Amino acid sequence: MSRQLILASNNAKKLKELQALISPLGVELVTQGSLGIPEAEEPHVTFVENALAKARHAAREGQGPAIADDSGLCVAALGGAPGVRSARYAVDAGRVAEGLPREVIDAANNDWLLAQMTTQANRCAHFTCLLVAVRHADDPEPLIAEGHWEGELMSTGQGEHGFGYDPLLWLPAYQQSAAQLAPEIKNGISHRAQACREMLGLIQARWGLDTAGAGDHWPWQPSSMTP
Ligand code: IMP
Repeated sequence: MSRQLILASNNAKKLKELQALISPLGVELVTQGSLGIPEAEEPHVTFVENALAKARHAAREGQGPAIADDSGLCVAALGGAPGVRSARYAVDAGRVAEGLPREVIDAANNDWLLAQMTTQANRCAHFTCLLVAVRHADDPEPLIAEGHWEGELMSTGQGEHGFGYDPLLWLPAYQQSAAQLAPEIKNGISHRAQACREMLGLIQARWGLDTAGAGDHWPWQPSSMTP
């Protein structure tokens, strides 16, 4: 039987990125959408709570192990905002209507963020990615991996690659914005890449999987806990 892990997202980019990373384990990622699972609510104020809620929801509905992520931009001078509200920063502020194309919302988010930063001297910011994996909905030991990608907020956007806030995050080590980096470079060093690598190690170590398939307890079900 193939080892399947339900991805609590329908984002094709995330599926591709995570699948590439996790394939050495012989694990196949399936999106929750392909299983007819609706998206979960993300009502929490922290990335980890939202990712856990999404992973639990997918595991419960899909009756199998699941993985979820939550990510965003945290700006030091704004107390960590936009944080978990990154995708909806300008919508929440009433600057743009909900439901418009992603590119339009992203541009409005960036404009609104720059407007908040005009009087701020501290330009430190970072992307955060939280990944949570559970073996079943009530798994008492979720695997939690985190990636941070530090930079400085620019005063105007630069670069054509990437998405979201990428044009605004200046990376001193590369002397480029995240949107100027070649995608293959970004995908190797980003917050998401860091969290993915950590998660791979956790799944191997804690779920008894290795690249050779030894110690295969997949899928791990509550009944395995019965003494
Ligand atoms: P989600 O986790 O895909 O919902 O992303 C949340 C939001 O955080 C996105 O809509 C972006 O605004 C922002 N974000 C997360 N990761 C990145 C990134 O790699 N580049 C730029 N923006 C990002």
